[in-house]
Amino acid sequence: MVEVDQNLCTGCEICASVAPETFEMDGGLAKAVSDEVTPEAEQAEQQCPVDAITL
Ligand code: SF4
Repeated sequence: MVEVDQNLCTGCEICASVAPETFEMDGGLAKAVSDEVTPEAEQAEQQCPVDAITL
């Protein structure tokens, strides 16, 4: 399960850059496009500056 809390997301694009197979930008905010918890998704979760990503 991969989730982005769009109420917290600032649209910084870090997650989509670190884990493009898991996160895409949609209307300026990130959304999860895969439920697979990959190493890249874990990296993005750790790098999100506002802790908007839940794995
Ligand atoms: S890293 Fe966090 S704040 Fe930045 S786009 Fe992704 S979910 Fe949003």
